[in-house]
Amino acid sequence: MKCPYCNHKKTSVIDTSHDARGGTRRRRVCDQCGRRFSSYERPILATPLLIKRDGTREEFDRDKLIAGLRVSCAKRPVAASEIERIAGEVEAELQQVGRDEVSSRFVGDRVISKLKEVDEVAYIRYAIVYLRLGDLESIRHEIDRLLSE
Ligand SMILES: [Zn+2]
Repeated sequence: MKCPYCNHKKTSVIDTSHDARGGTRRRRVCDQCGRRFSSYERPILATPLLIKRDGTREEFDRDKLIAGLRVSCAKRPVAASEIERIAGEVEAELQQVGRDEVSSRFVGDRVISKLKEVDEVAYIRYAIVYLRLGDLESIRHEIDRLLSE
């Protein structure tokens, strides 16, 4: 693997670890500049295509989901590992569906229910975007519903 700092072609693996999702993380050091970085390798299982609201299809994008979660969780006490966990669980649930296509709501609904248990502010932020809570009245309604639970 090439060094991301100096582009040197030879790097050495100094540590290898495996995680529960079948991924492999390798800590590497560049043979030329000596800087360290990690690489992550994981098996990619078949995930169904997501059918969007407008009827178009798109691939599930784990990075995009994580980016969305990060925005919702900005300045909230939610650990990066927690965001990774949510994205990982949603992806695993998606892979277990066993269909070629599912509604994109499948992803949104699962993210919402997991986020709700983690942080209510992050949940509301995500819900505003995902449920298109465009007006104050429906946002208030959602908050009231949360408070009464
Ligand atoms: Zn280097």
